Amino acid sequence: MTRRKKVNNTGILRVGGIPYHDAWVAYKCVNCKKMNYVRVGQQLLTPKEAIETAVWKCEHCGFIHSKESDLPFDNWEEKYNSADSTTALRFWEGFFRIATEHPESYWKQCNVCTRILPFNAFSKHSGWGPLERQMECRSCKGAINAVLNPKRTKEQLHESAVRRRIADLFLEEENEPIDFQDLFDRFNSRCFKTKKPLDINKRDTWAIDHILPSKYLYPLKRENAALLSRNANENKRDKWPSKFYTNNELIELARITGANIDLISNKHPILNRNIDVNKGVERYLQVREKSDLHKRIKEIKKILLVYDLVNNLSPANKKLLGFE
Ligand SMILES: [Zn+2]
Ligand SMILES: [Zn+2]
Repeated sequence: MTRRKKVNNTGILRVGGIPYHDAWVAYKCVNCKKMNYVRVGQQLLTPKEAIETAVWKCEHCGFIHSKESDLPFDNWEEKYNSADSTTALRFWEGFFRIATEHPESYWKQCNVCTRILPFNAFSKHSGWGPLERQMECRSCKGAINAVLNPKRTKEQLHESAVRRRIADLFLEEENEPIDFQDLFDRFNSRCFKTKKPLDINKRDTWAIDHILPSKYLYPLKRENAALLSRNANENKRDKWPSKFYTNNELIELARITGANIDLISNKHPILNRNIDVNKGVERYLQVREKSDLHKRIKEIKKILLVYDLVNNLSPANKKLLGFE
């Protein structure tokens, strides 16, 4: 019998050895007020069992939580704190009831982030352990789902496509054709990231990195182009250079291309405002007869607001788009 190999396509690993079906009790020490977690396993406690049998020792201060213990409350009269008193017994009954009376009172350990979290931090999964909850907490679940199912909503996709198209239109006349041979010469025919040799004739194995991305409105020019293997470029994509290249690589890159080291090493993206916004707007509005002009006006207005470029518009275009 062949066993199918389990492929982990999330890259987010579960941590081995976590008793993820076990229930935990969590409580704040009545003495030092620090959190404690008691693993109770697959059998939930009833409040009655807990009050009769539990001896929970605080792992921080050593205080024993049990109905035999005197209470440590300075603001109570001394006699109420004594374990022999009815007040203390009632307190302990309440203490153990709170910790154990419902499944919802319990805690559980996530086998992805390993945190011990309240019952409600886990989504339901019938038949799994006494709490019938999933093995990963909801934050990890969300992260895992995002990797497994990266599809964005239709709206988000449309929005980013519009944004890309508008960025391209803004840059259309500023992009320059790249001389491939010159690019290979300057980068010694190697991927700048991996240093692997590249063959200029195998066009599908290499790519031109738009060092400062078009997303931030930088045109493709000789000083904004780096040679990368196709794989490396797929990792780089729209990333701001300092988020992809190491410091040494940034220095080397500036040396090779003449790029502005100050700009490419900046921690956060800086938008290029040095572009002809008016030309871009005009190109965007010169549309096919059938397209929805009203929608396009709305789209470009939004992009101009997002990019904070409204003030780069000519008075005529500002008026045309209804910005004043
Ligand atoms: Zn304590
Ligand atoms: Zn988690």
